[in-house]
Amino acid sequence: MKKVEDYVRSIPDFPEPGIIFRDITTVLQDPDGLKLAIDGLKERLDGVDFDVVVGAESRGFIFGAPLAYEFGKGFVPVRKKGKLPCETVSAKYDLEYGSAEIEMHKDSIKPGQKVVVVDDLIATGGTIEAAIKLIESLGGEVVKVLFLMELAGLNGREKLKGYDVESVITYP
Ligand code: 5GP
Repeated sequence: MKKVEDYVRSIPDFPEPGIIFRDITTVLQDPDGLKLAIDGLKERLDGVDFDVVVGAESRGFIFGAPLAYEFGKGFVPVRKKGKLPCETVSAKYDLEYGSAEIEMHKDSIKPGQKVVVVDDLIATGGTIEAAIKLIESLGGEVVKVLFLMELAGLNGREKLKGYDVESVITYP
């Protein structure tokens, strides 16, 4: 029986020399890989009381939306700057390689809503730290942060101290 990590393809030197990119397209394109990935995330939400799933562009959409559907909740996208059509809040942050700015619609989270945040991977933690800032600025309460993959050596969890963080796959 294969595990979800068996479906992840590791690409050396992408997008820059020295980086090993964890490619999830090989997880998604295989029916068993896709099921293992969604089920692995899903079981970490069993018994969690929440109202909405927030997913980070773009791979957080792929995993976040089926989880929201599965639990009968809504899905809210965190998008790169300039993509959302209505009034937004935004946050700048540093990436593992480069920097970026993300946005959420101002009316996407209601004050007091319990939020589960989902992304494919945590590296430095900068992306999800910025997403959490936005969620909290809108009055949301982050009850869980879920990743398919965690690059433990980059200590992204340090940035998310105080939050309930879980990953399906951990790389050293
Ligand atoms: P962080 O903000 O934690 O440094 O970087 C995480 C973000 O970068 C995530 O949105 C993730 O999609 C992307 N990312 C960085 N490295 C990788 C990688 O090796 N594989 C994948 N799939 N995404 C990565």
